[in-house]
Amino acid sequence: MSTPSLKFDLQIKYGTEYGPEEEAALLDVLRKGAPTSGEACIQFEQEFAAYCGVPHARAVSNGTAALFLSLVALGIKPGDRVITTPMTWIATAAAAVTLGAEVDFVDIDPETCNLDPRQIEEKITPKTRAILPVHLYGQCCDMDAILEIARRHNLAVIEDACHSVGADYKGRKAGSLGLTGCFSFHEQKNISTLGEGGMIVTSDPAVFERIALYRSHCTRVYGRSTKYCSLDEEKLPMGKRFWWQDFDDCGYNFRMTDVQGAVGVVQLRKLDALNARRIENAAHISRGLQDLPGLKLPTVAAGCKHVFHLYPVQIDPVKFGMDRDDFIHTMLHEKGIKVGTHYTPLHLTTAFKKRGTRKGQLPVAEAVASRLVTLPINPRQTREALNYLIESVRSLHRA
Ligand SMILES: *Cc1c(COP(=O)(O)O)cnc(C)c1O
Repeated sequence: MSTPSLKFDLQIKYGTEYGPEEEAALLDVLRKGAPTSGEACIQFEQEFAAYCGVPHARAVSNGTAALFLSLVALGIKPGDRVITTPMTWIATAAAAVTLGAEVDFVDIDPETCNLDPRQIEEKITPKTRAILPVHLYGQCCDMDAILEIARRHNLAVIEDACHSVGADYKGRKAGSLGLTGCFSFHEQKNISTLGEGGMIVTSDPAVFERIALYRSHCTRVYGRSTKYCSLDEEKLPMGKRFWWQDFDDCGYNFRMTDVQGAVGVVQLRKLDALNARRIENAAHISRGLQDLPGLKLPTVAAGCKHVFHLYPVQIDPVKFGMDRDDFIHTMLHEKGIKVGTHYTPLHLTTAFKKRGTRKGQLPVAEAVASRLVTLPINPRQTREALNYLIESVRSLHRA
């Protein structure tokens, strides 16, 4: 047991896989002095924008910064309200809260676990400014419905595509549908830039300009471009000075380093192949578990390419013969497999309960979360590892 369990544990912890290409790219930038936000980041941004089919992309230090800067670019301020899902990593909602805004959670669709568009409109108030759909587990939300509601109520849509780099919605890339799309390259995500990293994409030039400014202390450099300022800034008369600097406002430092950017370029080229392996692995798990009563497997909505950042299953305690908590415990201690619980609905966390949320408020999310586990999935899994996972789950079935 100890050998497969150790291997398996390592496999679930890290989503990313690096090879000699990343090593070479990294050393190349190191030998150039490992600058911040230079040529390699600009190349990563250009290639990422092209991949998503949008004109603009800006690399940032992480996915949380991508969400936060998107809301900064929108001018979100204390008293404003944003709508999002409770089934997400806290970063989505924290981006709004840390700007002084209030979050209104909308319940989820039990099939996809994504935000249920039918419940959005009742949560819209005169103070609502934005909807933050999260493309959970690797599959896009029902974006036609969400974009239509946003259009009717004049709300911005900020896509949290941190789970869904490379996913498609009706032929368009996740992140390219809203006002901005936010990505994370954390070590567990489908591609990574050395453990941390993020990207914002947008088609709106004015929003892009604000994102670019606030990412780096709202620096404007007149007279010539610097590595920090890849905007085509206005060239003002220089007088005797070669260049000078001004600040439009007080901003932040959410820059990405060039070592990360160079690794990002390589990872992006591998993205479709890495996602294809996740999709194959998910299909193999589904084939191995589909006949088990009491286990609800993930489904792919029409028009979506699901990139299986995670593989969620919902366990019916009666029909499966074991409840979720026993399942987690037995998988770990008898099989050596660590399964996840993505997520504790945010309205049940201390951070939001002290802001007035309560149990019972979002019944679908609460019911789903009490049955949900995420099985390990990544591009490196061998058939042997996947079959061991399938056999382990099957052996727990008691009904
Ligand atoms: C990972 C993640 C984030 C935040 O990304 P970081 O890079 O960790 O800051 C935001 N939203 C979701 C859904 C995520 O999974």
